[in-house]
Amino acid sequence: MKVFVLGAGVAGLAFASFAEGLDLTVIDSNDFAGRKLLATGNGRCNFTNKNFSYAYYQSSDPDFFKKALDGFTNEDLIDYFHQLGIATTSLPSGRCYPLTMSAKSVRDVLYLKARENAKFIFNEKIIDIDLDKGLLIGQNNKYKYDILVLAGGGITLKNSGSDGSIYKILEKFHPISKISYGITNYKTQEKLSKKAKGCKVSGKLSLYIDGRLRKDSTDDIIFQAYGLTGTAVFDLSNEISLALMAGKKPEVRVDFLPSYGQEELGTKIKTLAGRYPQRLIGQILLGLVNERLIGDILKKARIDESLFAKDLSERDMDMLVKILKQMTFHIRDIYDRQNAQVSLGGFSTKYIDKQTMASKIYKNLYFCGEIMDVSGSCGGYNIQWAFSSAKAASDTIRSMNVQNK
Ligand SMILES: Cc1cc2nc3c(=O)[nH]c(=O)nc-3n(C[C@H](O)[C@H](O)[C@H](O)COP(=O)(O)OP(=O)(O)OC[C@H]3O[C@@H](n4cnc5c(N)ncnc54)[C@H](O)[C@@H]3O)c2cc1C
Repeated sequence: MKVFVLGAGVAGLAFASFAEGLDLTVIDSNDFAGRKLLATGNGRCNFTNKNFSYAYYQSSDPDFFKKALDGFTNEDLIDYFHQLGIATTSLPSGRCYPLTMSAKSVRDVLYLKARENAKFIFNEKIIDIDLDKGLLIGQNNKYKYDILVLAGGGITLKNSGSDGSIYKILEKFHPISKISYGITNYKTQEKLSKKAKGCKVSGKLSLYIDGRLRKDSTDDIIFQAYGLTGTAVFDLSNEISLALMAGKKPEVRVDFLPSYGQEELGTKIKTLAGRYPQRLIGQILLGLVNERLIGDILKKARIDESLFAKDLSERDMDMLVKILKQMTFHIRDIYDRQNAQVSLGGFSTKYIDKQTMASKIYKNLYFCGEIMDVSGSCGGYNIQWAFSSAKAASDTIRSMNVQNK
């Protein structure tokens, strides 16, 4: 039984690493395996997260990913890395990394294991697939398969090889859910001054869709000329992009001082203003927020920068606290599609078996990783999905192989 995996990315490597005992070939258009894997986690590979919840995953079918994630959990992945010889560590946020803090060490160890089970063919772009005849048509050769595992990734970071070509080849044969980009940055209606450009704060970012609070994240927020980026933005990103895709108008609110309650902050500023009445209002704020943002905060609160602390009115105080706790940005569009970290959408899960990752339309066709309509939030959830889905598919195919012998 000849098994071919299309794609030597995270999911393809994971599949091959699990797939002992198969007659297995992995094909990729790149000249080496795991190109995108090298870029993950800023080159450090945030491979899973100690905090697990289904809420970190998005799909048109919110039940689809549960079985595979339960079958191979975050703890299983950590154990598996240890078994392979990759020591791991984690941050207080729950994000897990190799102890080397190097994505290359993960790639190298995974590739070593995968090569024990599979033959690899590189520099072979697949340009067509005949699902009826079981034929992969590459730029150089044709390959006859009995089982095909599609692990061609999504549409992000195209120069890593995941250019969406598999979607184009198969869209007439296997339905695809609408695709967009997640874990990325956004253009906003409100723009801050030049002085604020590139300014990074640690704050709480809350996402509102149709006026309702959906999710929040307390982490880095970076103000750019186009709008917003930073880890807190990435944390909310998939929900923001899905809302944009649905034609909704998401907005985010920045709380610059999440450790202060509204009243407490008002009292704090009043106390400082009373203690230093001859200081400018901006000078009162110097120890509370990044100096580069003070001009914008005052402007939004419609408070004159030349105002002395002693002249601050009740209205000024209320507005100031409001802006410091809830500066609102209306999201207009995705800013950077090319460098987004995950695709939203993909091969529709309606036509894929959630236990085995097998196609419900074509016999002997399987899916692994980002190519399906499943996306994880920022924090290691996508590599986890690549492994969990690869484990589900490889277990099924291996048991079929045993039965066939
Ligand atoms: C910058 C960046 C940082 C990221 N950081 C993290 C992180 O820290 N943690 C996390 O969990 N996730 C992270 N992700 C997401 C994660 O990398 C992906 O979800 C994961 O790589 C998906 O694995 P995959 O195997 O499905 O696809 P890929 O890893 O993209 O692999 C697909 C492979 O298929 C090959 N291929 C595609 N089409 C063809 C074709 N026609 N012919 C031949 N070969 C083909 C490609 O060359 C590629 O090697 C990050 C993504 C990016 C872009």
